[in-house]
Amino acid sequence: MTFGTAVILSGPSGVGKSTLISRVRRELPELEFSVSCTTRAPRPGEIDHVHYHFLSEEEFSSRLEQREFIEHAGVFARRYGTLRAEVMDRVRAGRDVILDIDVQGALQIREAARNDLQLAAVAEFVFVAPPSLEELERRLRGRGTESEEQIRLRLGQARKELSFWRRYDYLLINHDVEYTAVEMVGLIRAFRLKSSRQPEELFS
Ligand code: 5GP
Repeated sequence: MTFGTAVILSGPSGVGKSTLISRVRRELPELEFSVSCTTRAPRPGEIDHVHYHFLSEEEFSSRLEQREFIEHAGVFARRYGTLRAEVMDRVRAGRDVILDIDVQGALQIREAARNDLQLAAVAEFVFVAPPSLEELERRLRGRGTESEEQIRLRLGQARKELSFWRRYDYLLINHDVEYTAVEMVGLIRAFRLKSSRQPEELFS
């Protein structure tokens, strides 16, 4: 049995990560999505346990105390975290999983991987950037889901997040989501071909 890949995808809010993930999963239906926990309220159309596990502050704190998170962070005054089980159970069973998490969370996973060889072997870090900050603002406004205050907050945060792109192994610039999805599918297929992922006893 070979381990699956944990694709850690970050990029500023509004860059198109969710659309990208759904396009990629259409092409690679076996790629599973790591459902994060959050204390923010669901947006219209978001389903509990599908898009997020929507938790109260108390539930989040209790899971944190139980050390259930592989990483967690405060984003836009709300808490977000990835359950260790969402990722490790799948990759250990040979399945691929994609995480949509912010830069703070991705860097925590990188740090954790320094002392966890299993995690280091499966994690691949991919950053998605917009063609420009102006284009990002246009997309955030076009989405129409955030208040003016939230848009300003997200744009300020986007500038900070963009400065971390070099900490990732791969950079995708999302000019066109269909094209970027093709690039991402190519990356994920290449991850599966890594010689370090193949069973030791393959030709013995
Ligand atoms: P949104 O509220 O728009 O769904 O997500 C806001 C930000 O939180 C996005 O940048 C998203 O990548 C990030 N995020 C979502 N889930 C997690 C998580 O489990 N951990 C961390 N660190 N960030 C997350």
